[in-house]
Amino acid sequence: MIGKIAKSLLGLAVVGVVVSFGYRQGYDDRDAGREMRLARSAAAQEGDDARKGSYYPNTEQLADDEMRVIALGTGMPNLTKAQKSSGWFVELGNGDVFLFDIGSGSMENLHALRPDFAKVDKVFVSHLHTDHVGDFGALLVGGWLTGRYTPLHVYGPSGAERPLGTAAFVEHQIQSFAWDLSGRSGRLPDAGGRVEVHEFDYRVVNNVVYEANGVTITSWPAIHALDGPVSYKLEWNGLSFVFGGDTYPNSWFIENAAGADLVIHECFLPPAALAKYFGWGLAQATNVSTRIHTEPTAFGKIMSAVRPRMAVGYHSVLIPELAQEILEGVRQTYDGPLTLASDLYVWNITKDRIEVREAVVAERAYPSSVTPDYNSAPRTGFTETSEFIQSGKWAEYTPPPMPERR
Ligand SMILES: [Zn+2]
Ligand SMILES: [Zn+2]
Repeated sequence: MIGKIAKSLLGLAVVGVVVSFGYRQGYDDRDAGREMRLARSAAAQEGDDARKGSYYPNTEQLADDEMRVIALGTGMPNLTKAQKSSGWFVELGNGDVFLFDIGSGSMENLHALRPDFAKVDKVFVSHLHTDHVGDFGALLVGGWLTGRYTPLHVYGPSGAERPLGTAAFVEHQIQSFAWDLSGRSGRLPDAGGRVEVHEFDYRVVNNVVYEANGVTITSWPAIHALDGPVSYKLEWNGLSFVFGGDTYPNSWFIENAAGADLVIHECFLPPAALAKYFGWGLAQATNVSTRIHTEPTAFGKIMSAVRPRMAVGYHSVLIPELAQEILEGVRQTYDGPLTLASDLYVWNITKDRIEVREAVVAERAYPSSVTPDYNSAPRTGFTETSEFIQSGKWAEYTPPPMPERR
């Protein structure tokens, strides 16, 4: 025990030295404060032994063959402070990053991780419920403001009719933010405000929807509420990540997720709990829990068939008594590796091991800093307020002079 404490203290001491050395090394007058604010230059670690029990964002370099997945949201449409709606951040050792779902509130946790937003330019949505896409506007504008100076790419399924597909969703979201987006023109980089939609046919099984830089992402149909929802598998460097989205237990999932490394599937509230905690009638609760979603014993049955290296369940309210009930449900049908995920859980995945930790983030944090390329990216289309509105400026206030542009 004493040895373990000494070792972890040593680990922290080593990290402290590396970080402060890096800071001094990068310090000069012009960059005063910048190195601190960036906080995304990971320090090299002294091998796995130096890894801390918790994950402190931007303090660990991913190994070339490593994948890191962080839960940005694991809750319900009626999100809570502790559990936002569905969102998943996937980082690869080759430097690529991906978002899967961007449900309501999930952007809060993404900002808390302080990633390099210049790289956060791809989101794969499982379906168009607000608890899976509700933070689209926050990603579009918040990511643009925080470092993205290239278009945002949105990958998502078609629907039974065009108005029910991802392209129509994005078009209408953009239209509804016309005032917001117009008002930022000329102030923020032009390209960062653009969106490119990649809508694909939800019905195609094992559909390759993305292929670049050694990463392949495929989709297949899910069974949930209306036609359209899908599940995804990301494959890279011999590692595989599966994200189920919302679905009734389906055979495509069992086939395509079989043997994958990290397999995320909803693990919904059981009917009686849904009725009790939401105040619903048992019939409605049973319908939602077992006909539209996947309740815990069904989740366990799926994972027993899939046999992943790590099964991840989410999409509930993990108050203690409910978490226990969900866990007992899963364990009736599955005895393999399991995480019942809450927000900011972190999985580090290599071929040798999967490590599960929690991220430690600040309640209040600086946003990620933008880069020099962001600052020099073209900006056009600036519109001033009208002469009428200008005429209302209070004559008793004079703003400070504008600095010379650097
Ligand atoms: Zn849904
Ligand atoms: Zn959902």
